[in-house]
Amino acid sequence: MPLLDRILSVIAPHACLVCGDEGSLLCVWCRPDACSVVPEVCYGCHKLSMDSAVCESCRHKSPLRHVWIRTDYKTTAKQLIQLFKFERTQAVAPILAALTGESLPYLPENTLITHIPAATSRVRDRGYDQAKLLARYLAGSQGLPYVTVLARSGQARQVGSSRSVRLRQIEGVFRPVRGYLIKGAEVLLVDDVMTTGATLEEAARTLKKAGAKRVNAVVFAHKQ
Ligand SMILES: [Zn+2]
Ligand SMILES: [Zn+2]
Repeated sequence: MPLLDRILSVIAPHACLVCGDEGSLLCVWCRPDACSVVPEVCYGCHKLSMDSAVCESCRHKSPLRHVWIRTDYKTTAKQLIQLFKFERTQAVAPILAALTGESLPYLPENTLITHIPAATSRVRDRGYDQAKLLARYLAGSQGLPYVTVLARSGQARQVGSSRSVRLRQIEGVFRPVRGYLIKGAEVLLVDDVMTTGATLEEAARTLKKAGAKRVNAVVFAHKQ
């Protein structure tokens, strides 16, 4: 735990977002019911799909094979994300990682876990990249390596909700780093929130172009 978080947790211990008990942002009693598990669907068309596989028809336009989603961006999930993003509460990371990890199937040993890098201005303001922190905890809990293989060029930020608009804004925003690790790799992209999936697709496209064999993704919450 970073020093500041450690000091804060002593002075003002976290209270459970659901029941208010002191100790953790989400206590063991409230955890099973908070952030309800959503059905396994194809992220592209929202049709039910076993193991959250991208369906035949969506696979034509998406470089992703599976997109696992833990929950909807609502109530407790939304509160957790807001603390994580806007209140600099890093203690959220292990909680999100544990919840997100529950939605993952067994991952092959050669899976490389990475994150969707945030715009550098955001990382500067916040002091950390929340998706990277989530990916690191997630990798740890899965016993798999975390590596940074994507960098973000430019400060493009996504605004608006139309899929085509978001796709245009994000195009060319990522570049591969450590290409030797990407070649032939099985990559799991991690992000905290997904809206249309355009960002995940662009990141996956970048990795595929750099030689990745297969790219899957996992997100904590889906924002409709
Ligand atoms: Zn509680
Ligand atoms: Zn589909």
